[in-house]
Amino acid sequence: MIHKTFGSFSLSDDIQKSLRVLDYKIPTEVQERVMPLALEKNDLIVKAKTGSGKTAAYAIPICEMVNWLENKPQALILTPTRELAVQVKEDFTNIGRFKRIKAAAIYGGHPFAAQKMELKQKTHVAVGTPGRVIDHIRKGTLPLNMIRFLVIDEADRMLDMGFIDQVKEIIKELPEDRVTMLFSATMPQEIKDLSLNERRTPVQVDILEESGLAADIDHSLFITSEEDKFGLLTDITVMENPDSCIIFCSTKDRVDLLWEQLKKMNYRPEKLHGGMEQADRNSVIRRFKRGQYRYLVATDVAARGIDVDHISLVINYDIPLEAETYVHRTGRTGRAGHKGKAVSLVTPTQDRFIRQIEEFVGFQIKERAVYEKAEVLKARLIFDKKINEAPEIKQLKSDQLNKGIMKLRFNAGKKKKLRAASFVGVLSNLEGMTPEDIGIITIQDTLTYVEILNGKGPMVLEAMNHTTINGKQLKVIKALDKY
Ligand code: ADP
Ligand code: MG
Repeated sequence: MIHKTFGSFSLSDDIQKSLRVLDYKIPTEVQERVMPLALEKNDLIVKAKTGSGKTAAYAIPICEMVNWLENKPQALILTPTRELAVQVKEDFTNIGRFKRIKAAAIYGGHPFAAQKMELKQKTHVAVGTPGRVIDHIRKGTLPLNMIRFLVIDEADRMLDMGFIDQVKEIIKELPEDRVTMLFSATMPQEIKDLSLNERRTPVQVDILEESGLAADIDHSLFITSEEDKFGLLTDITVMENPDSCIIFCSTKDRVDLLWEQLKKMNYRPEKLHGGMEQADRNSVIRRFKRGQYRYLVATDVAARGIDVDHISLVINYDIPLEAETYVHRTGRTGRAGHKGKAVSLVTPTQDRFIRQIEEFVGFQIKERAVYEKAEVLKARLIFDKKINEAPEIKQLKSDQLNKGIMKLRFNAGKKKKLRAASFVGVLSNLEGMTPEDIGIITIQDTLTYVEILNGKGPMVLEAMNHTTINGKQLKVIKALDKY
């Protein structure tokens, strides 16, 4: 198949430049199919396998189509988990980096007031979980009258029993004249039939793989008793010796317990479940993406959408009871064309769940014989060596984009009547500066953050120590919270 390049779509230079820095050379299949339809403002229902690049398939056209000058949100993206909201916001920020697209993540467990303040500033794209989005709508802190795009990511999860009323409540508040796009790796017919905008008929895009599962994943299972699970788990990790591994359990308590057990055995694991403080949850994901630890024990909060480069192994310590969940959990590996492995521990009474999963994915998951003790013993030497070494820290694609960006903090904001235009005016008049060197500007009551691009931060910092804005000499320092 001859692949198009991103250059063959009508995308502005700003967007093309971000894609180049992100090293997105060739559009993935779903992007190739979806982007032209989205750019022509069709409503869409898109089913494409896990890890196939669905986020960029909607984020690129939306970044292209939003009007930079408009201050109110023009796109609303709904996600089922807080972690996914943060990730999608980051994807928008990356793709929109040179167009200076401002995306905000609004989700529970994070201070409402901070989000309110963020939404008061120019925000092109709001990404959020339904509950918190409704809170903002009710309190009048999320203006919706300029929304032209609604994306429901992980649509089947969002429209299943738990979420559908909330999503419908949000939709009721949106302008009817808007584009609605649904994305997921699993999309039952009921969801496809659901009408989310009476006035428009969506185009359905289905990319190959019936089950939505990436083809590059090796699936296998062990039959085991509950008592033998832990021993078997350690054998699997010793034999596979992964650089990056997610272990899924059925409940928070089981996550806590397994995490304790692994900690005692020096795995230096981290854990993720809904009972944890949100700040801790965010930090766990951030450090996992960086490769700062190897083993993450999690509930299904980590099953949907989370994108970590090169997770080589997914273990279902407890198998999921829904076939769709199997697809999403195991889809955390084998992403963006990489290979991955998924291993499930199945107790004898769970046979029927496995049959259902197999029917859903359309193939038989191969059963493996337990390892020979001698084999495991031999592999243990190499395993122990690695577990005692610090993992290699990964470069993220966004690092490249963020290179050369310095965030400056000025000690005055709205209360001193400062506006973005005041900053742009003064900064772009500095020797060697152009408006293109100025990134996102965030004005708070008493502080202003300004990103300076292209390595010009130190120069601007120096110059602003003796340059006034609106006739005032402001104190300026390099901001600590870079991103
Ligand atoms: P999905 O939502 O389909 O599961 P994501 O949108 O999370 O998948 O994308 C999976 C990974 O593929 C991400 O790391 C993303 O950066 C990467 N990716 C997306 N599009 C491209 C592309 N055109 N070229 C290279 N990598 C890409
Ligand atoms: Mg996704």
